[in-house]
Amino acid sequence: MAAKKRKPMSGNAISRRTVVGAGLAGIAGLVAPATAQVLSTRRGDGLLVYDEHSLRTTLDFSSLIREPVVIDSIEVLQHSENTRFVRVRSTDGAEGIVIGNMRLPHTVSLLEHIFRPMLIGTDARDMERTFDDFFRTKRPRGYKYSGLPYFIIQGHCELAILDMFGRMTGKSVSSLFGRQRTEEIEVYMSRLSRTTTAEEEIDIVGQHLEASGARAIKVKIGARMNLNADAYPGRSEALVSGIRKRFGDELKIFVDANGSYDVPTAIRVGRMLEDWGVEMYEEPCDWEDFEMTRQVTEALDLPVAGGEQDTSLPKWRWMAEHRAVDILQPDIMYNGGFMRTLHVAEIAAQHAIDIAPHYPRSGPEVAPLIHFCTSIPNFKGFMEYRADHLETDFDYEPVIRPVDGKVPVPTGPGFGIDIDSPVLKS
Ligand SMILES: [Mg+2]
Repeated sequence: MAAKKRKPMSGNAISRRTVVGAGLAGIAGLVAPATAQVLSTRRGDGLLVYDEHSLRTTLDFSSLIREPVVIDSIEVLQHSENTRFVRVRSTDGAEGIVIGNMRLPHTVSLLEHIFRPMLIGTDARDMERTFDDFFRTKRPRGYKYSGLPYFIIQGHCELAILDMFGRMTGKSVSSLFGRQRTEEIEVYMSRLSRTTTAEEEIDIVGQHLEASGARAIKVKIGARMNLNADAYPGRSEALVSGIRKRFGDELKIFVDANGSYDVPTAIRVGRMLEDWGVEMYEEPCDWEDFEMTRQVTEALDLPVAGGEQDTSLPKWRWMAEHRAVDILQPDIMYNGGFMRTLHVAEIAAQHAIDIAPHYPRSGPEVAPLIHFCTSIPNFKGFMEYRADHLETDFDYEPVIRPVDGKVPVPTGPGFGIDIDSPVLKS
């Protein structure tokens, strides 16, 4: 079969070609009235120096909430074998809730031994400084535990506190930050399987596109962190070419290699993807090897994406400055929450890089992500949404499910989700 040669499509927000000129101005508006955290600045001679005001907060919560919000408790409430909620309460009885991430059970000891002692009794309005003090200087010095397990717990705490602030003020989280750009967010349907044949996967993709009305799909290629293998020989090309032939030129196709390739193989696969008009190539190489990924990004016209496991602000900046990828993919949970991920968006905007957050979840779990996507001017344009929508084992409203390929931005206070569970009545 001769591959049909084509130029990569030019998407609305493909960063290498479409410089986000308004990015910085937009971000500045986003974080008003306070200035965003800047870890360091580059002098005229190119050397990086730390800004003496480097710990400025994202938002001055004391201007929104006049009285201290003293944290009284942070609880993990188990609704069922697979469902947990993290609830934060203030001494005045305010509360906020976030649905536990699937990785919470294995990281919860960091909540018990570091984050709960860190936060109880503090003013939640100062949480950015509290997080930063304990990360850098105060014992047990969070940086000694740095990485995804640490920041996923910070993410749960921060998101629950933001939900509480929203409920206290009657504002949604995106409006709390002063900028909700849209009333709905377009999604791409994210497939997670490599155990299907290409033919089976194409059929499943068709079912999900029809059910959701989505205009974009992401499928897995290669063989996750398994050097230069394919799930079976030929699956990746058969899948991508088959999707293009079946669903036509208008469908936006994204692929995720989960670190499958070395550089020469990644470039060879990337050329094949370009031939089929793929618009985003996620994690071609080992996620930790920024230089390998950078070489692939430099070689290809196709936008390369990555960053879902990353949590270090200096490393985010390195990735942006060296154009290791064309699209950064922070995960608002893994990366320590909403505000820390706003910092990543700002770093990206400074380098005209778009953000396509990682978050292969569905239903009410994605409410914080929707608020994040509507808050950043350099959002790539399609939010990840798990194709095999997971039904919750609890009632909630408003129901979140894509219609015509879009999900509404919840308008209620906090992240806008009201959950009905017996464990939350305690
Ligand atoms: Mg991925």
